This record gives sequence, structure tokens and C-alpha cells, in this order.
Amino acid sequence: TSFPDSPTVILTGAASPRGIGRATGYYLAERGWNVGIIDLDADAAAKVAEEIRAVHGVQTAGAGADVSQESQVRAAFDTLEAALPQLVALVNIAGVSSPDPYLEVTPQEWDRVITTNLNGVHYATRRAAESMVRNGVGRVVSLSSVSAQRGGGTYSKTAYSAAKAGVIGLSRSVARELGGQGITVNVISPGPIDTDIMGGTLTEERKQAMAADGVLPRIGTPRDIAAAIAYLISEDAGFVTGQTLNVDGGLYMH
Ligand code: NAD
Repeated sequence: TSFPDSPTVILTGAASPRGIGRATGYYLAERGWNVGIIDLDADAAAKVAEEIRAVHGVQTAGAGADVSQESQVRAAFDTLEAALPQLVALVNIAGVSSPDPYLEVTPQEWDRVITTNLNGVHYATRRAAESMVRNGVGRVVSLSSVSAQRGGGTYSKTAYSAAKAGVIGLSRSVARELGGQGITVNVISPGPIDTDIMGGTLTEERKQAMAADGVLPRIGTPRDIAAAIAYLISEDAGFVTGQTLNVDGGLYMH
């Protein structure tokens, strides 16, 4: 089944002012996507949605949900699907960092990070896939992290790496199960990106040190990730599934 003329993408985690999600919303709207936004704070999600609509003229809507709570995720999808044209793509961007060293990780911290970064991707993917299977076409992209692939070495540590590695396994399995129904499922694995997720620790000095670790002489921008997302959810990427695309300046080659 081909794409509808006016497709909708739902983004989780797109309300943060300097984050990857918000930049992706603008980037996709500029290219004709209608945009649904899910974030913790319903008002913040609605505000970003309205700003994107005002700039790019596509249809947008926002809904509040904690992605680690399945009932909230399902309710948010119901709201957004009722307000917007056919859901074609889901991009799982919502996530939390976790810099605690392994021997200091509490059970609470472990649960917080796994439930948000892994269970959250599962709940949204599962709900989106139900609609996509009905429609016969769908695209899912989830954000992992280079820290999952190279064993930390970034701001976040074990709980985060474990959850983000889980995202890769989950995505490959769902890709295999749902490929026959017109749905592709892929992962983007960002290296260090200049956002606020590292809690103010991303000083100029730190940026230079992180850049020196890779091949290209800089850290990444939200736009670098948005552009990769735009490709993977495009109609033309229909023969790409189960893949992990590193957008990390050459930090991890595979
Ligand atoms: P960010 O903190 O700016 O954005 C994260 C967004 O997720 C925020 O809008 C936040 O409100 C939302 N969120 C957090 N917990 C949520 C929950 N339980 N339910 C709903 N929404 C929730 O961070 P960012 O850098 O834009 O990160 C976006 C994604 O990219 C994350 O998954 C992150 O792990 C991943 N990533 C970022 C980097 C980086 O260097 N910035 C590197 C690799 C991967």
C-alpha cells in the first residue's frame, strides 16, 4: 500500500526547546508531514504543535503522556489520531539520560531508565503498529544511542546503555514480524548531539573532547538527526528495515 497524500507522523519527546524532537517536528512539517506530538507536559506539547502549524501550515496536535505508562500512551494516540490525517510514521524520541556509575545505580534509577527508554518505545510502537497494520503501511524509527553499541563512554552509563541496546533488539524483532504488512522499523543511533539532555555538562571543552573521539571535527546537531529520520520515514525508504543508522560523526563504525 502506498503513502496517503497527507501523512501524519507522531513524535514522542518533542517538547524540549533545544531537543532533537522539536527540531524534527519542524524539519518534517517543512517537508509536508502533519505532526502529532506526545510529551510529558500536555500544554508544552500543544504549544510546540501550534508553533509548528503556524510556521509550516500543516495539521498538528499535541497530547500529554508519560511514555512509561501504557494507558497514557494509548490515550494520547487516540487523541492524536482523532485530530490528524492517517498515521504513517512513529518516531520514538522521548528518553532520559542516566550518568550514575554502575556500582551506584539504585533499583529506582534502573527502573526509571528502563521503563522510559525501553518500555516507552515498546508501548508507543505497539499502539502505532496496530493502526499501521490496519492501513497496510507504516514507518517506525526509534532513537538508540552510540553508548549502547560501544559500552557507554558517553555521558550516560549502564542503565541507559542497556535500555538503548534493548531498543535495537526490539526494533529488529518487530521489523521481522511486521515487514509482511508494509511496516518498516529502524533505529538511529546518535553520537553526542548538542541538546540539554546532558544536564548542563556539555561545555565547550567537553564538546571538543567528544568531537575528538570521532572522525568528524564536531559534535552533532538536532538537525543531523532530523534529516536521518526524514529519510527513514520517507516512502522511498521502503526497502530499508531492521537497520541501525549511526549518526555520530564516525564514532562507531559497523
Ligand atoms: P531532551 O532531554 O532535550 O529531550 C527529551 C524529551 O523527552 C523531552 O521533551 C522530555 O520531556 C521527553 N521525555 C522524557 N521522559 C519522558 C516520558 N517519560 N514521557 C514522555 N516524554 C518524555 O533530549 P534529546 O537530546 O533531544 O534526546 C532525544 C532522544 O535522543 C533521547 O531518546 C536520547 O536518549 C537520544 N539521544 C540523545 C543524544 C544526545 O547526545 N543528545 C545521544 C544519543 C541519543
